[in-house]
Amino acid sequence: MKQEYELIVIGGGSGGLAVAEKAAAYGKKVAIIEGSKLGGTCVNNGCVPKKIMWYAANLAHAVDDAGDFGVSVQRGAVNWQKLVLGRDAYIRHINDYWDGYIDDSGIDHIAGYARFVDSHMVEVDGKRYSAEHIVIAAGGEPIVPPLPGAESGITSDGFFELEELPKRVAVIGGGYIGVELSGVLQALGSQVTTIALEDRILELFDPMISEVLEREMRSQGIDIRTGFQAVAINRENGLQTVVSSEGEHLAGFDSVIWAVGRRANTRHLGVDAAGVEVLPNGTIPVDEYENTNVPGIYAIGDITGKVSLTPVAIAAGRKLAARLFNNEENSRVDYENIPSVVFSHPPVATVGMTQARAEELYAGKVTVYRSEFTPMRYALAAHGSRTAMKLVCAGADEKVVGIHIIGDNADEMLQGFAVAVKMGAKKADFDNTIAIHPSSAEELVTMKTPQSREVCHDMLDEGIEWKEAC
Ligand SMILES: Cc1cc2nc3c(=O)[nH]c(=O)nc-3n(C[C@H](O)[C@H](O)[C@H](O)COP(=O)(O)OP(=O)(O)OC[C@H]3O[C@@H](n4cnc5c(N)ncnc54)[C@H](O)[C@@H]3O)c2cc1C
Repeated sequence: MKQEYELIVIGGGSGGLAVAEKAAAYGKKVAIIEGSKLGGTCVNNGCVPKKIMWYAANLAHAVDDAGDFGVSVQRGAVNWQKLVLGRDAYIRHINDYWDGYIDDSGIDHIAGYARFVDSHMVEVDGKRYSAEHIVIAAGGEPIVPPLPGAESGITSDGFFELEELPKRVAVIGGGYIGVELSGVLQALGSQVTTIALEDRILELFDPMISEVLEREMRSQGIDIRTGFQAVAINRENGLQTVVSSEGEHLAGFDSVIWAVGRRANTRHLGVDAAGVEVLPNGTIPVDEYENTNVPGIYAIGDITGKVSLTPVAIAAGRKLAARLFNNEENSRVDYENIPSVVFSHPPVATVGMTQARAEELYAGKVTVYRSEFTPMRYALAAHGSRTAMKLVCAGADEKVVGIHIIGDNADEMLQGFAVAVKMGAKKADFDNTIAIHPSSAEELVTMKTPQSREVCHDMLDEGIEWKEAC
């Protein structure tokens, strides 16, 4: 039977837009089904609004230090409404851009939520649409755990809907979204408590990152509670109390934010009707080419549970379109060495293996270079935010298999170094690269003795001349 479309995409977020756009560019007849706004999580409730808030927080920190550099400005209260209005207007521009772009590309935009009817057909608001290929790019949603009083808390989605800056906030979750929201709220004037179940925040990252970030967040006034299992939220006199499994009560919050993970959006998709396998955690398993178990149905992005990042979803969409519609049969994403950034204060940037993972894989053949220092940005400031870097190298030729950075500008520093790691650069290649001076990034190409620079920098911080110290 002839299908109505060559491709139907469920979900107009990062992955869905990428695959639809590329398939249309190859001349295919495409429909994209979106239940909410085009752009998906990243544009509407994720990366974009988050980064605007992060910039606001950075500016607040900069104003705090400006006086020490002789620049006279004084920090007043943050105009939250102005910030939020500006942010939302910026997002509307992106939504409008996508609406226009989809129309101009000849892609049919079907508004509503899709449900499978069978392996080649979906239904949206009672209307049915068929296609030869169907891509599931429905993303995920934040989890509110099934605990007493949990519904009185909000999630990252609710954070972006806050009409006022909360005075006292508990952010429950020590992962990247938890530390990001904590840093923004504290910088803009809230008193924040960050609660993590694990023994350290950013548990999946190299321990150096967790250690330095925890120190920095505490120095900003954030109260960090690790090893704290929240089991209930009580509400008294309009304020919330977070209760732990040990019976500890943290009281007095006017907002509690759950940042305890995200769940794949498979619950309402009716994938059973198409025979698509779903794992108990709701994700759809796919092979390295993003094929599900059903021929003609693919899944990309967060819903696969692989690596939940926008550029990964986009790459998966583009590669899949090239494979399906441009005869590039080997087109697929390489999931090795994906760089990522946590927009904490200060930011974290990482690519490749942690030291622990490298030691498992290359036992006895791992060399680690580490540096920690106060960047020149704080030369005149009363307080300094630290920067720490680690290069993890493997084998006799010291191939760089991991780079971990925390500190100002780490977010902009890593992209180029990620190319070097992807190309298999050795420590010697880093050493042969002339440094950019004065910068923090130069530390990455000037680390000399394994683990020793830390000592040099501590001595420098104490005012000892570089030559004497190192
Ligand atoms: C607070 C936060 C901050 C983040 N920050 C970053 C960051 O800094 N950098 C980064 O790379 N990533 C970040 N992410 C992750 C990033 O947003 C996701 O990895 C990315 O959006 C995944 O794209 P996707 O296409 O898989 O899904 P999504 O972008 O989530 O798109 C899925 C779309 O499908 C729609 N949909 C769902 N079900 C249906 C249905 N049945 N029918 C029709 N439509 C449906 C949804 O409405 C949604 O628009 C962040 C996420 C959050 C929550």
